Amino acid sequence: MVCTSYPKESIDARLEGQERIGRGGGGSGIGQATATRFLEEGCTVCVLDRSAEARERVATELPALSGVIDADVSNFEQVQAAVGEAIERMGSIDVVINNAGISIRHDFLDITPEEWDEVLGVNLKGVFQVAQAAARHMVARGSGVILNTASTGGSTGYPHYADYNASKGGVIALTQSLALELAPVVRVNAVSPGFVLTPMQRAEYSDAMLDAVNRKIPFGRHARPEEIAALFAFLASEDAGFATGHVYVMDGAETTGGLCSQWTHE
Ligand code: NAP
Repeated sequence: MVCTSYPKESIDARLEGQERIGRGGGGSGIGQATATRFLEEGCTVCVLDRSAEARERVATELPALSGVIDADVSNFEQVQAAVGEAIERMGSIDVVINNAGISIRHDFLDITPEEWDEVLGVNLKGVFQVAQAAARHMVARGSGVILNTASTGGSTGYPHYADYNASKGGVIALTQSLALELAPVVRVNAVSPGFVLTPMQRAEYSDAMLDAVNRKIPFGRHARPEEIAALFAFLASEDAGFATGHVYVMDGAETTGGLCSQWTHE
């Protein structure tokens, strides 16, 4: 999760930054790419993560961060403390991005109640808890933006990820409901990525697997984390001032055309 203070003057920086998107170079997951992008925009940024290794790495690679806070988003008390710490460090929270997510590849018939709770606890309850804590602060100060990370798996079926897909479908429904309740004070949107080539994802693929998945995506490749980060930056900005209550899909047309989207590139 990334909390940022989004300064008004960053709009110009965002437009100038268009050439920076392709230059980003990767080497990070979506959360780190998003923190990088918001720092480039001139924002004040705090990152939350439960993993000591991830916190240490991101603190080293992004020394401009205002805080790298230890929190498990599925834990209610830790979320309250972390959001409080982020407000203390940055003065306020203008934008919160719910990015933490986990998935376990398994057949539906094998999912245990513990695994179901774990996946839903991070991916859906985590979004609820962070969004609620941030929204209380935003409503009190009269403005804010909440951006949630969904997935194309939340709106189409994929085998072996029933719990993950159910959690992401929940994120979409939660986003729509929050947008109605919090309008016009807080804008709430979801970003729904298709396949994104994060370092962890790349490590799970052999070259042949990567090639096979790429050939099933009409664009012929995975998204880069920086491309998802750019969508977050747009939705956080005042250029998106009338955008609320929707899901913004970035998937290289993976889900656009039903069977037509499964055209295999030669
Ligand atoms: P990632 O590299 O695994 O990053 C996820 C981060 O969230 C990790 O640093 C992870 O830390 C952290 N995290 C996990 N559980 C947490 C918890 N309970 N509390 C706090 N932090 C926690 O994954 P990513 O690919 O960038 O994914 C980011 C988001 O995009 C996820 O919500 C994912 O579902 C979504 N998404 C990804 C893709 C894709 O193709 N990559 C596609 C669609 C949607 P740990 O190291 O401790 O796990």
